[in-house]
Amino acid sequence: MFISEIQNSFEQSLPAHARVSDWIHPERGPDGRELRTYAVRFDGDPKRVLISISGTHGAEAFIGSLIQQRLLERLSKRQGARLPTVILIHNLNCFGSAWIRRGNHQNIDLNRNSWSGPVPEHPAFERYVSLLGSKGALEFGARLALQLPDIPRFGLGPVLEAVARGQSAHPESPFYCGRERSFEIRSLQNYLKSEINPDHLQVLDIHTGLGSYMQESLIAEPDLTLEQAQEFESLFATKLIDTRSPGYYPTTGTLGQIFPETFPQTKIGYLTQEFGTRNFLTVLKALVLENSSWQKQKSMDSQRIDPMLHAFFPAEKDWRDQITQVGVQRFFALHDSI
Ligand SMILES: [Zn+2]
Repeated sequence: MFISEIQNSFEQSLPAHARVSDWIHPERGPDGRELRTYAVRFDGDPKRVLISISGTHGAEAFIGSLIQQRLLERLSKRQGARLPTVILIHNLNCFGSAWIRRGNHQNIDLNRNSWSGPVPEHPAFERYVSLLGSKGALEFGARLALQLPDIPRFGLGPVLEAVARGQSAHPESPFYCGRERSFEIRSLQNYLKSEINPDHLQVLDIHTGLGSYMQESLIAEPDLTLEQAQEFESLFATKLIDTRSPGYYPTTGTLGQIFPETFPQTKIGYLTQEFGTRNFLTVLKALVLENSSWQKQKSMDSQRIDPMLHAFFPAEKDWRDQITQVGVQRFFALHDSI
């Protein structure tokens, strides 16, 4: 399944009363097709806004789009000024999803790119540059083995921390946070600025690849207050993951950071919704090997893309059904409470 098919079915599900905007990416897809991100707006109370985002990481757009297509079906039957305004941002990293990559055309990780101030420097990443630059499965295994003496002492913690913090020194390596704000994030921010000015904003950003198979993790970003976290927990009847607690590492420059920056007066609840697929090392290996293959040759070689789909968009029907269902359920819990 390629993103063009998904994009077509998304376009066909757009209801007549939704207001559709889009922005065209400067680069093209593998079939020469134009790439675009859609912003689909359902008008309701302008002071209460709910946003769903798919495809911040390209290869994760597939399930995000399937969830949003279900949302379109349901939202098309709901209208009224007492409902919140809803915006679906579809396929934010449209270059990454078309080429089945995590990052954008500049290899920027869009969930590491919304930092402000000086370019973030993370010297600890240097220790993992060679592991994360491995060119084949054997090399990845060998380099991982070199790190193994540390694992009994520190667990996978230092690798996780390096991944979470990202890096700005190696544009050709994974988890690159960029040295300036990307086309995709700027476009999103410009769109939001021109469209909304809410008192209360909630955002659900859909991701896959972290956590065990079919497990959902709702991740609270550091800006979320304790009170807001408790509100979410009682609404969802589940614990949030707080990246400030032991064993977790806050990510630098997450997409969530653009919201308080754009709307400093607004009450904001931003959550990353992660759906688990394969184990951490399988996912990491897929990312590392895909990246080195891409750096060598930009093609749709199945050896490059199949492990990415396996890691970020499992073909198992039970996974897709379950994740779609939970994605829709969480969205409407927010929709009915905001
Ligand atoms: Zn992701």
